[in-house]
Amino acid sequence: MKITRISAYQVDLPLHEGSYNWSGGKSVSVFDSTVVKIETDDESITGWGEICPLGPFYLPAFGQGARAGIYELGPHLIGQSPIELGKLNRNMDIALKGHAYVKSALDMACWDILGKVASLPVCELMGGRYGDDFVLYRAISQESPEEMAGKVAGYRDEGYRRFQLKVGCHDVDLDIARIHAVAAELKPGDILVADANTGWLKHEAIRVCRGVRDVDVYIEQPCLTYEECRAVRKSWDGPFILDENIDSLDPLIRGHNEQAMDCVNIKISKFGGLTKAKQARDLCADLGIAMTIEDSWGGDIITAAISHLAHSTPTDLLFTSTDFNSYVTVDFAEGAPQRENGRLKASTAPGLGIEPMMGVLGDPVFEIS
Ligand code: MG
Repeated sequence: MKITRISAYQVDLPLHEGSYNWSGGKSVSVFDSTVVKIETDDESITGWGEICPLGPFYLPAFGQGARAGIYELGPHLIGQSPIELGKLNRNMDIALKGHAYVKSALDMACWDILGKVASLPVCELMGGRYGDDFVLYRAISQESPEEMAGKVAGYRDEGYRRFQLKVGCHDVDLDIARIHAVAAELKPGDILVADANTGWLKHEAIRVCRGVRDVDVYIEQPCLTYEECRAVRKSWDGPFILDENIDSLDPLIRGHNEQAMDCVNIKISKFGGLTKAKQARDLCADLGIAMTIEDSWGGDIITAAISHLAHSTPTDLLFTSTDFNSYVTVDFAEGAPQRENGRLKASTAPGLGIEPMMGVLGDPVFEIS
């Protein structure tokens, strides 16, 4: 089987809540997503992938960059087998150094093809489906303590029981107030995470940790560097999550060896696609490290890809996952998983189990053949 054509589409994904705000005053109101279609010499089989950075200022990734990278890398993939994913990933790494997020959409589309060739859903190819469905968290966009606390009841009505607060501003008292205000809204069984998204300096993070010592809360990625986070962890006696620093196996192994975290956040595009995210997932599962499995952002296709990786993760090791397609106003693929009572399940159809709506995607931005 050979790749014969790669097409890229651009999709704007506005948010139901108008904007999504996190540390350092960063905010996005419309996400710039790129959908990739990979055609093969078997005309009956086409694969679909997606990459959607969290704006241009979260990870080293941006929407136009995704398309430029796919345009650069695409010609190297024409004629290659889409179902030999190890070789495909090695060849992508030889042809383009770094730029993991660019490769993510291409790798995702090839997993879709592999599933269709095998007539199996991706989650079964990734190790097997655990349980009927899996647990989600809801991110609470950064606002005033009162506004953030006011969101909890509505999200719980939607079935969410795990809440991730966006904190990480330089006003330490304000972040402490945010954590206390939301914690006061929790019910037995709810789980609270305070995610600073690298936004605190070390001394600020240590003060926040001291200020919320009485709260049952996870602290996620307080500072920019791994070393700073590890230092903060030493002054915190609760559970601790690393996200932005864990983008490949090397920091994951180091973090495990140095006991730098209890949980990690595995974002598909941060690792460079489903192949590498699965590698990290399997290592974490063997090491007993619980995981949030998600991506930086996305629409229907990324949500489907997340669902397959999450649903094939042992239930006790899956801390949370994300239904990004419920945050945005645009649906562009039939068959995409839909949240039900705060939970999600992967499709039982072959591949990712989605069929894009071409009327929504419109004409491709470019095609490579
Ligand atoms: Mg995070």
